[in-house]
Amino acid sequence: MRKTGGRGLSLARRLYASRTLGLALGLLCVGTAVYPLDPAPWVWVMMLLNAILWPHVAYLWARRAKVPFHAEHRNILVDAFLGGFWVAAMQFNPLPTAATLAMMAMNNVAIGGLRFLLVGTAAQLLGIAVGWLVFTPAFVAQTTPTQLYACLPLLIFYPMALGWICFRQATTLGRHKRELLALSRTDSLTGLLNHGAWKDQLEVEYQRCKRQHQGGAIALIDIDHFKTINDTYGHVAGDIVLRQLSKMLKQNLRATDVAGRYGGDEFCVILPDLTLDHAAAAMDALRDRFATLGYEQSPALTVSLSIGLAAFNPAHTEATLWLNDADQALYEAKTTGRNRVICSGDGKPHHELLDSGYPTCGSGLAREGGLSGDLNAG
Ligand code: GH3
Ligand code: MG
Repeated sequence: MRKTGGRGLSLARRLYASRTLGLALGLLCVGTAVYPLDPAPWVWVMMLLNAILWPHVAYLWARRAKVPFHAEHRNILVDAFLGGFWVAAMQFNPLPTAATLAMMAMNNVAIGGLRFLLVGTAAQLLGIAVGWLVFTPAFVAQTTPTQLYACLPLLIFYPMALGWICFRQATTLGRHKRELLALSRTDSLTGLLNHGAWKDQLEVEYQRCKRQHQGGAIALIDIDHFKTINDTYGHVAGDIVLRQLSKMLKQNLRATDVAGRYGGDEFCVILPDLTLDHAAAAMDALRDRFATLGYEQSPALTVSLSIGLAAFNPAHTEATLWLNDADQALYEAKTTGRNRVICSGDGKPHHELLDSGYPTCGSGLAREGGLSGDLNAG
């Protein structure tokens, strides 16, 4: 079976709809203009074939082409050439001529911009020249009322249809743009914000804290000995651990908290309006809960977290200094034994779970079966 679906197939579909409608309405307009000139039967046959059969032939042709875009380019030239030919056939009757040429120009410019417009115009001129040679060279100076009314459907409905097609295309493009933007900000494995997107949020939070003289904390969370987990249980198991941690973060953070994957086995959280102690309590509860997770397919696997915390400090001249504090705290958590939360500045692990009112792991995940810990659950 011949493969279809190359570049420009959606263009071919759009053109199929607009061409079918435009040529059907054009038949009424041109036919009424040609009728008083009493043309030969072959002219009527050709006109019918052009109006009724050609849109389907053009579409099939484009669909079967290796590059539908190129096929449609050629089809548009055929359209333009035939349009010019019919203009000569109706002896330049003013209104049908203007309607035919304008509708085609509108179509070409909507589809392919200035380039299609220019190429189409050249093909129209060629069509007019051939028509001039084939038919009696003459001018009909006036459009009759019947001919005027026959042109109205083309003048009214075709622009509406083309506008609708363009609107739908713009809507689809807008949706794709939003989806792509969301994708570009999301970490594909965990669904959290990726490094760049989280850093953008950090900058926003930093500016907000500065402007409003508000407090807030950030946490850097790193899985302990993750390389060993990968080496021992495999990378698939490692991925499940990463997803479990992101799931735990999503389920337990407040709506205003912003979690991201900083990279590899390192995660990052912005905790707005939280004192360092309360943030430490929340993170310690998270660490505690994560350490007790069991993994059905690897019962021996337990995973601990090292967490570095830093509060916003008005002395920070930029957001990266705030991040550096959290990084330093994480480094201390790692070098002082891992599986702990360290706050920037004090260097001491936080074991107390303060009554912060924060929806901690205790309140979120400790429910029976809240998180199965099944390796398949990720
Ligand atoms: P530490 O306790 O000092 O943090 O040691 P570690 O082994 O956790 O740290 P290290 O930086 O040596 O190893 C991190 C590992 O994370 C190495 C890398 O192969 C692994 N990793 C990074 N991204 C992914 C991922 O998307 N999936 C999996 N399964 N592993 C990943
Ligand atoms: Mg690690």
